[in-house]
Amino acid sequence: MSGPVLERISSHRAEVGRGLTVHRALPTRARRMVGAWCFLDHAGPYDHGPGEGLRVGPHPHIGLQTFTWMIEGEVLHRDSLGYEQVIRPGQVNLMTAGRGIAHAEESVGEGAGRVHAAQLWIALPDSERHRDPAFQHCPQLPSFAEGGFAITLLAGEAFGHTAPPQVFTPLAGMDLSSAGPARLRLPLREDFEHAALCLEGAATVAGERIEPGVLLYLGSGRGHLDVAAEERARVLLVGGEPFGHDVLLWWNFVGRTREDMETATADWNAGRRFGKVAGTTLERLHAPDVAALRLRVPPA
Ligand code: MN
Repeated sequence: MSGPVLERISSHRAEVGRGLTVHRALPTRARRMVGAWCFLDHAGPYDHGPGEGLRVGPHPHIGLQTFTWMIEGEVLHRDSLGYEQVIRPGQVNLMTAGRGIAHAEESVGEGAGRVHAAQLWIALPDSERHRDPAFQHCPQLPSFAEGGFAITLLAGEAFGHTAPPQVFTPLAGMDLSSAGPARLRLPLREDFEHAALCLEGAATVAGERIEPGVLLYLGSGRGHLDVAAEERARVLLVGGEPFGHDVLLWWNFVGRTREDMETATADWNAGRRFGKVAGTTLERLHAPDVAALRLRVPPA
């Protein structure tokens, strides 16, 4: 157990879909996971012109759950189970890949719009990683006010509330936003490790000032966390029971072995296993060659 630490980790730029730049806070060289959270992209906030929103064509996933937290804008999700679901601000889409699912995501409408979202992946434990795929839309999450922050509970339990997303390892997830000065002492589970990412404005977490682009890794062993803002701010807090071992991340797959990746890549490129995403005109993505798998960690 690492105990409490304060580690500033810079996110790096990455491209998703058709030229959309995001800031990737997990994984990095410095940190691959926080609990079972193994991937964290922060998209926006930004305004886009007609047809320039999020456009990610059909692609597969295995071994993980994709967790989409929508802050601004509207995105349509379609998957190979037949779900077609618009996600709106304040909502979460949770897609459980298990042994395999495919989906496509695109901004709603052809006009100009705005995008602000976080997409996270949750690694499935060994006992669940080959389970049936599933999709859960959470139109309403517990939300409440504490210390000047509007808090939305995204995963796990806090302040007597339980978040609806069905996850398979003990997790914490919370969005804290303030319109002005705010100050809060947040109770934490000491057996969890935690990290905070500022999504807008600036905030002080455990005495450390953070702005967008920095993931503040907090370690474990903290019974509480002080969060403060002087002005408008938004902070995403993630945490969980330490996963216990590393997972292999390759393209859109989470697995344990190189063979997991080779099989998934071959199956997807041959049109097997993952089913079809109906109703989208977006181009199906091609899985890259696993030969580059030794590049396990994206450049920081
Ligand atoms: Mn995806």
